Amino acid sequence: DATSFAVRVAPLGGTGLVLVLAEDQTEHRRVEAVRRDFVANISHELKTPVGALSLLAETVQDASDDPEAVRRFTDRMQTEASRLTALIQDLITLSRIQGAEPMAEPTRVDLGAVVDEALDAVRMPADANGIELVGSGAEGITVLGDEGLLGTALRNLIANAVSYSPKDTRVAVSVAVTRSTVDISVADQGIGIPQQDLERIFERFYRVDAARSRATGGTGLGLAIVKHIMTHHRGEVTVWSKEGSGSTFTLRLPRPDDRGLDAARNTDRQ
Ligand code: ADP
Repeated sequence: DATSFAVRVAPLGGTGLVLVLAEDQTEHRRVEAVRRDFVANISHELKTPVGALSLLAETVQDASDDPEAVRRFTDRMQTEASRLTALIQDLITLSRIQGAEPMAEPTRVDLGAVVDEALDAVRMPADANGIELVGSGAEGITVLGDEGLLGTALRNLIANAVSYSPKDTRVAVSVAVTRSTVDISVADQGIGIPQQDLERIFERFYRVDAARSRATGGTGLGLAIVKHIMTHHRGEVTVWSKEGSGSTFTLRLPRPDDRGLDAARNTDRQ
């Protein structure tokens, strides 16, 4: 991609001097291309379920004298409608969170409750696939942030862990406190991620295996949402993975300053 410059020339009043501003356009063009790709992706992702719904509706009409077929087709219509709902929900979350400033007024969040709720949210699909869910270390640990968003980030990681794991494996969520951070890890024994895809999986709509992602109801936005939620918390998300053995995603948050927390607690009591 060739480098290009936008040049602006402004006379400096009365001095006889001219100010020349040369601005590098390469980054602008890259950002613009990424935006165009995203919009193209959104319309493709929306058109797929809408097209399927429209075809299924026609098919149902043709099959109106066969109750068994009607049932089959309306079930598939439900699936496509759920897919559409999930996609719209993820797009709304993403547009709310991407580019948002780091949080101005975080509140104290009890990780024990966040982990329990996130595990409960995936218990049904996990049970159905014989996947054991275990949580440890979160009891009594607090961080500063937005409870709803942290719950969304953790739920996305646990849902992926369950989706990309075979039967009779385990998904473990653990919390560890280090000197300066609080780390929440989600470890699975699933299919893993090829090394060359690791740095791209946080991009919007990037999937290692599109067919597999769609089959599990994935929108392709889950990890992009996680990444933006962590940036919003001045934290980060990291991944370790080995194909065929599993993946571990870690949410790393700044450790709350204990003195700051005590001060907050004292103010609470007043
Ligand atoms: P999706 O809705 O497709 O799951 P995500 O943004 O959540 O979208 O994840 C992007 C891609 O990263 C997935 O399509 C999948 O290929 C890969 N991936 C994410 N989590 C895991 C995991 N725990 N194990 C294996 N692959 C994963």
